Amino acid sequence: MTSPRKRGTASSGSFEDKVKELDVLYRTFERTMAPFVAQAVCGPGCADCCTQVGEICATTLEALRILAYIEELPIFQGAALRQKIAENRTEKKQNLLLPCPFLDPGKMCAIYPVRPFSCRRLYSLEPCGLRGPVVHREFWALAEQFTRALQALDPLGYSGHVSYVLGLFEDPSFREAYLADRPSAGALGTMIQEFDLVVHSRRGAS
Ligand code: SF4
Repeated sequence: MTSPRKRGTASSGSFEDKVKELDVLYRTFERTMAPFVAQAVCGPGCADCCTQVGEICATTLEALRILAYIEELPIFQGAALRQKIAENRTEKKQNLLLPCPFLDPGKMCAIYPVRPFSCRRLYSLEPCGLRGPVVHREFWALAEQFTRALQALDPLGYSGHVSYVLGLFEDPSFREAYLADRPSAGALGTMIQEFDLVVHSRRGAS
């Protein structure tokens, strides 16, 4: 079984380089987890994990990649997604249990190729119903290791609910600092608290 630690080393580098490392981590995870996931009851048309979980986490690196993907979509489609992200952010502050802003009316994911790790790690051995997903204990421990590897890949970044982390990039100074691989300042401290974000490294909050 491959350890994510060998892949997810703390690194600086261009956004493109980090995205390549991110994809390597995703593929390693998928290979490692295949025997567990093969037993899942999940299938097309079920979107319980996109509607019932309420919290869909992303790292800053994953969020920026999602934004890059949205920017490549047709204008109207991209604008509609941006509006749904903003609405989700507003409603989430009221602690509502919300469907993911990327879930389309046909229960398909609008950003499937770039969906974050928190979606990739979800499966269930039984229909979720009110109990939520049932997974192997060993799988969960390994998924947590991969989560830490993702954070190590993004040492100046943050993790949290996807629409909140996407919101960080609406501040041009944050995006500029992040792409330059240097700590951001400004209103970030307030946003970390308001959005209850995980700081990957203390350097990121300086
Ligand atoms: S990003 Fe896609 S897969 Fe993940 S919760 Fe949203 S709709 Fe579902």
